[in-house]
Amino acid sequence: MVDVYNAVTFTIWLCGCNLKCPFCHNWRLAETKKDVCHLLDINLLIEEIDSAKSLIDYIHVTGGEPLLQWKNLIALFKYLKQQYNYKVSINTNMTLYKPLEKMIKEEIVDHVATDLKYPPQLLYGLPKEITNILWKQFLKSLRLIAEHFIPLELRIPIPKNIDYDSLILTIDNIAKILEKTNFYIIINPLLGPPITTPRNIKWCKIYCDPDKELLIMLREKIKELGIEKVYVRENLHFG
Ligand code: SF4
Repeated sequence: MVDVYNAVTFTIWLCGCNLKCPFCHNWRLAETKKDVCHLLDINLLIEEIDSAKSLIDYIHVTGGEPLLQWKNLIALFKYLKQQYNYKVSINTNMTLYKPLEKMIKEEIVDHVATDLKYPPQLLYGLPKEITNILWKQFLKSLRLIAEHFIPLELRIPIPKNIDYDSLILTIDNIAKILEKTNFYIIINPLLGPPITTPRNIKWCKIYCDPDKELLIMLREKIKELGIEKVYVRENLHFG
């Protein structure tokens, strides 16, 4: 009940990721460590989904970056939709434009969740040149979502000690791209230990655990942009 706002999901975490976010608390899974990753038994998965089907609003796939396995994922989504008519949601960092485009063209995605990781130079954990390319891919993917009117959960991870005016300006620009889309914003404070075990603890000491007042202030500033649906995530509930 925490992966998609206001919905119950059956959530599948896929291993591997193309980013190296320093705050990532799924980094073992993102790095495909053998103690947390294994081949998925599709028959077992279908059985599990079947046993929970009366409760599920969405089959939600997250990671890691699920679009790294786009071919198998498209096949799985098609099967789940054709056989069971499930609604499907994907949480992606949206930097892999082509796989996302292929998936959307198949008309098998009912809901997308993504992070607005800003500033990307700080949050992607990658060299500057690659970061700039991936940020452009992210913006292109947002346009794709908007063109296809796919409902979007835009999560904004909030670190401490960044330029918040610049963040608000970016949100304003993105809201213009999403103007005709059904989207809502989740303000997601970056949390450090002991609640999470981030990839880079030293980094997290500087940037994690922003004050609640900051989150409320950001929510109000975002609302002033004319965006009505803005929620603050506080641990496992929304305020
Ligand atoms: S936070 Fe998400 S996008 Fe970033 S490294 Fe972790 S799994 Fe990948």
